[in-house]
Amino acid sequence: MENIKQTYYQNHKEQFKEYYQTHKEQIKIYLQTHKEQTKKSQKNRECNPKRIAYKIEYRQTHKKEHNKSEKKYNLTHRKQIKKYNNFYHLTHEKQIKEQQQFYRLINKEQRLEWHRNHILGSSKLNNGKKWIKCNKRNYPLDNACQLCGKTNTKLFYYHWDNEHLEFGIWICNKCHWITEGLDLPNYEQLKNKYLNFKEVINHV
Ligand SMILES: [Zn+2]
Repeated sequence: MENIKQTYYQNHKEQFKEYYQTHKEQIKIYLQTHKEQTKKSQKNRECNPKRIAYKIEYRQTHKKEHNKSEKKYNLTHRKQIKKYNNFYHLTHEKQIKEQQQFYRLINKEQRLEWHRNHILGSSKLNNGKKWIKCNKRNYPLDNACQLCGKTNTKLFYYHWDNEHLEFGIWICNKCHWITEGLDLPNYEQLKNKYLNFKEVINHV
């Protein structure tokens, strides 16, 4: 039945258009004077499972057109969308939380990977800054520390230039402290002091 309707509509598209153009005013008046009836029939149409299935199929086969029209709609209906979203958030708090938890569970690995590649928090020594959506240097494929080669350990991203976060290396906790020390401005002074202390203590 649906198919017959569709082919009939396809074959008579032009006539439908022409009819709409010539009867625009009458249609407008009818819609205004029969608001309740049109609302009901619209609701019935929206809830029709066949219509929903067709909509899903159309979206999948016409992705480009759909995205284009969606973008256009979003641009011209910003206020309405914001109003509706706020209303929806207020009235569907529980469902939203449940959906978020479910989404987090099924996308755990992708979320972790994204976090690893694009979020960087610096230590308190570095003012405790946090960068979101930054691009770090690629994580090593062998999961090994890029200095000592240790595997089976958590790797940290060490960077030395806040303006260029892509300059950095993935290293283990121990090597992280070594690099932090090596990059201290008074590194040489501290190193000599430490070696002297060691020498004196060993010969007491
Ligand atoms: Zn290491």
